[in-house]
Amino acid sequence: MQPGCIKTDRRTNVLIFLYLCRDENKQSEKTMETNDLADSLELKGVKPTANRILVLKALKVQTRPLSLTDLEDILATMDKSSIFRVLTLFLEHDIVHSFEDGRGILNYELCTSKTVCNQSDAHIHFYCESCRKSFCMDDIPFPAFELKQGFTMHSVSFVIKGECPECSRKHKDNQHG
Ligand SMILES: [Zn+2]
Ligand SMILES: [Zn+2]
Ligand SMILES: [Zn+2]
Repeated sequence: MQPGCIKTDRRTNVLIFLYLCRDENKQSEKTMETNDLADSLELKGVKPTANRILVLKALKVQTRPLSLTDLEDILATMDKSSIFRVLTLFLEHDIVHSFEDGRGILNYELCTSKTVCNQSDAHIHFYCESCRKSFCMDDIPFPAFELKQGFTMHSVSFVIKGECPECSRKHKDNQHG
């Protein structure tokens, strides 16, 4: 009996076991994520296709609203018209909402409600005129308003233009340097 040998063997086995587990986890995480994305499309009445899942994933990964051009850069394997078709379908089914940024260019972001959307997730956006990025100001309460009689709201957008913290900092650094 050589205890040293057993110890080494056991450690090797554990290492192999851990390695296999890690690999399996990675695989199931990936499948689970794709399944989740597919489910969220189906909940809104859209058949999940590879392209639709790709666009949904891109919007989910980013923390800010994206324009068609932004999406085109991220989804290098998809052409502009395919991305646009998916976005149009997503808009029809309230999977995404769009708003015009400070340049009058449409920005897209995911709807936060899982099923039917009543536009309660509408929020203020900030457009940085220096880096041309849009930011969600979803923790600032939307100003309350009432429409004139006879008018029905379908969507609402509120965009504040200015400079984001990063660009402000760059400006200040330039002034001092
Ligand atoms: Zn919504
Ligand atoms: Zn900026
Ligand atoms: Zn937003």
